[in-house]
This record gives sequence, structure tokens and C-alpha cells, in this order.
Amino acid sequence: MILYENLQKLNQEFITEFEFKLPEFWKKGWYILGENVNNFETNFAKYNNSKYCLGLANGLDALYLGLKVFEFPDKCEVIVPSNTYIATILSIINAGLTPVLVEPNIDDYLINVSRIEKKITEKTVAIMPVHLYGKLCDMDKIAELATKYNLKVIEDCAQAHGASYNNTKAGAFGDIGAFSFYPTKNLGALGDGGAITTNSEELYVKLKALRNYGSEKKYYNKYIGINSRLDEIQALFLTIKLQKLDKINLHKSKLAAIYNQKINNPHIIKPIHSEENVYHIYPIRTVFRNELKEYLFSNNIQSEIHYPLAPHKQEGYKNILTGNYPISEEIHTTILSLPISYANSTTEIEYVCAVINNFKKQC
Ligand SMILES: *Cc1c(COP(=O)(O)O)cnc(C)c1O
Repeated sequence: MILYENLQKLNQEFITEFEFKLPEFWKKGWYILGENVNNFETNFAKYNNSKYCLGLANGLDALYLGLKVFEFPDKCEVIVPSNTYIATILSIINAGLTPVLVEPNIDDYLINVSRIEKKITEKTVAIMPVHLYGKLCDMDKIAELATKYNLKVIEDCAQAHGASYNNTKAGAFGDIGAFSFYPTKNLGALGDGGAITTNSEELYVKLKALRNYGSEKKYYNKYIGINSRLDEIQALFLTIKLQKLDKINLHKSKLAAIYNQKINNPHIIKPIHSEENVYHIYPIRTVFRNELKEYLFSNNIQSEIHYPLAPHKQEGYKNILTGNYPISEEIHTTILSLPISYANSTTEIEYVCAVINNFKKQC
């Protein structure tokens, strides 16, 4: 069976070095906000060409604090793509703000920048572009709109570690870059983790307090913060894995290149990607999605759907996210993710291509 993901195998080579560092970690006995988090923050900021980085508990908190730090008045509006993962939308709701959904492009699945301006009102305070699947949004246009309407930009980079656009890394365009280190992300921890990158010292200082009960000085609470700290042990692992992030991304791109070259089934739409992007997943689309998923499985290939149901169709959100989003729905009903893990071999991917090319083949 070709697994969609195999975290044990994926992390094997980093675990060896991690285990080498563990005796020192046990001996030290320091678990929260210590030198490992500091180290990781320094390295991740440098990797992203950002001035500052803050380690957090998860990606949702990175998005949430990225909004909270601006203290927008309640019910202000935030522009977000209608086909994003639910966390982006939830962060807006949790921050007391109103999500305003904008449809994506049908060809690259990213927010359609030509639809943003119509959705801007007096209440709009921010845009949250999501670099979905590892592909960067049109940041030139987004920056232009942000300047014109005085909006903050909080980038959701949870699927785009290491991706760039005109030589600038994801997270370095906006006021805030929000990252997740959920285990299956391109830079995944051994559990939950997240981070914010920013070039603003003022935001950095405030966020540093916000993640730790709003406290700059221990037991004195300057703000009403939250508890969202990256664990020392996760930071230790992530520092090791970060050194290989480019290698991970390169391997995934190599697998994607095989798909791009070898899939030639007329029922399948392949993704558009540029050189500078990374592949978080490899999304194809077909009107025979469910049938293809079963066909792959019967040929010992696992696949996934990112995501099966659009946010505005989710039961818990139906009273909040009103309106029609047909492009988003079309993507959700036709999209399928093929295996593209660091743990997959090129031979496995070639086999997947052969199986796909046989799907619905007329003899
Ligand atoms: C994974 C993900 C998140 C949330 O990250 P968590 O660490 O699971 O909270 C947010 N946005 C996108 C686009 C994601 O893929």
C-alpha cells in the first residue's frame, strides 16, 4: 500500500539527531520558553528573512494573535478566501471580528484578487491571504489594496513554509506571517506548534507578551493575553528539522515534477505551480473524484481530500457564513490530493501516475 503520509518514516532522519540532543535536554530540566525556543525563533526568522519570530502553541493561535495584536473594534471585517481551511475563518470569529469570504480562482485555488475590492467596506480592517497548498497569493495586488484602503495583512503561511514570490518568502509580505507546525505540514513538529513572523518591533514586543498571559514582567499583566507557547522540546526538534526544510521541499517538488510530466489522463486537471512555490499537497481535480479515489485505493494507493466540505457548508458555521460560493463548492467536490510525502519514493509516484493514466481508459 502506498500510504498518503507516513510520519514515522518522514521524521526518521531528524529523530536520530534529536535523540543525540535529548540527554542534554533531560539534564537541563527547562521545558517552557527557554533557549531552544529562542534558538528556533532566531533560525526561523533568519530562514524567512524576517526580523522577528515568536514560537506559539499552534497555527490557529498564530492567526488569532496576529489579529488580536491590532485591537480592532468588535465586528470589524476581515477578508478571507472562501475555500480556506477552517482555522483561518475561526481565528477571525474568535477575535470578535466578522469574516468576509472572497471566492478563489478556479485554476490555482488562491483568493481571486480581482474580487477583493468589491467586498471592502468602511468596516474592513484586514486581509488574510492564504498561501494554500504551498502556492503564494498575488501579493503585489494585495499589498496595493492594503495600502489604498489602509488594511493590515495577516498571511496564513501554514502550508507554505519556504515558498517564495519574487524572491521574498511567505510571511515576509504582510504585517504578520502565521505558521503552523502541525505534524503533517512541510515543517512539522512531533505534536502541535506554530509561529508568527513580523518585521515590526512594536508588534513583536506586544505579541511576546500576548502569548504569555499578556505579561512582559513575570506576574504582571500588561494585556489580557492567552497561553500559547511553543514547547521547548518541539523547538529543539524543529530547529533540527528546519535545516532540512529545503531538502524536504525539494523532494516534494521532484515528486510533483513526475506527476506534472507523466499524468496525461484527459479527465484529470493538474495544479498550476511556479518554480518559487513549494508543494504542501499535490491537488488534482476531476468530476469523477470519488470514483478515482476508490480506484486508487483498489490499486493500493491512499489519497486524501483537502477539503471535502466548504466552510460555508459546515454545520457549525451555517449561521455565520451566509451567501453562495459556487467556485469554492466546485473545488470542494472535485479536488483530490495524491501522495507527495518526503517519505514517498519516485518509483511509488511513477506507479501512481500509471494507475491514474489507466483510469477510465477506453480500450
Ligand atoms: C494547518 C492549518 C492551519 C492551522 O494550524 P494548526 O496548527 O492546526 O492550528 C491554519 N491554516 C491553514 C491553511 C492550515 O493548513
